Amino acid sequence: MNTPTSLHILVIEDDLRMVELLRTGLCEHAHSVVTATTAEQGQQLVDSENFDAIVLDIGLPGRSGYTIAQHLRTRPNRPAIVMLTALNQEDNIVCGLDAGADDYLTKPFSFPELIARLGSAARRARIAATDDFCFGPFRLDTANRRLLCNRIEIHITRSEYLLLRSLALHRGEVVSRRQLMQAVWGTTIISHGALDTLVNTLREKLNAEQLGLITTARGLGYTLVEDADL
Ligand code: CA
Repeated sequence: MNTPTSLHILVIEDDLRMVELLRTGLCEHAHSVVTATTAEQGQQLVDSENFDAIVLDIGLPGRSGYTIAQHLRTRPNRPAIVMLTALNQEDNIVCGLDAGADDYLTKPFSFPELIARLGSAARRARIAATDDFCFGPFRLDTANRRLLCNRIEIHITRSEYLLLRSLALHRGEVVSRRQLMQAVWGTTIISHGALDTLVNTLREKLNAEQLGLITTARGLGYTLVEDADL
């Protein structure tokens, strides 16, 4: 369960015994640790230092841990966030994940599990940070689920994001209607017309018709064309 990569970790936790436990345990696993006991302190640190991961207690005095997750949400190359919450606080977990946390553990937690979750959350954050898709003037920022055109954000819905990501993943190929519907709606049964409507609204937002960006393979699916074909 040990992760071979040494991480620079910020622990934000107000319970001093827990802070020491976390510091000792994480250092034993060759991670470097900085600690904060309030959200304000934590925020100052994330604004001045680069961390690979944050262990974030939700129940902090004053501002809650969510504010940190929200603060970091739109930042490129943001650290992975693993929340710590008290038992049976499902609302907290949902709010925390909505606010941008990557994973959570409920107290009391097992240390090997924390180490494993931190390692994989940091790995995912690194991949997400470098896994943007660029096509024409656009960049699909997968870490923050944003679409930028010449660095200016174009607002797209969750469904439009999932559609575009699926097309971008298979750039230059016809992505089948079934594949696209699965990427956007999962196993929910949806009419075929819904996919065409979604593609059309996305095309409008991207001015894709004029750019020739998304082509139709009639009856089969859609293609995000290669830059060379634009
Ligand atoms: Ca606490």
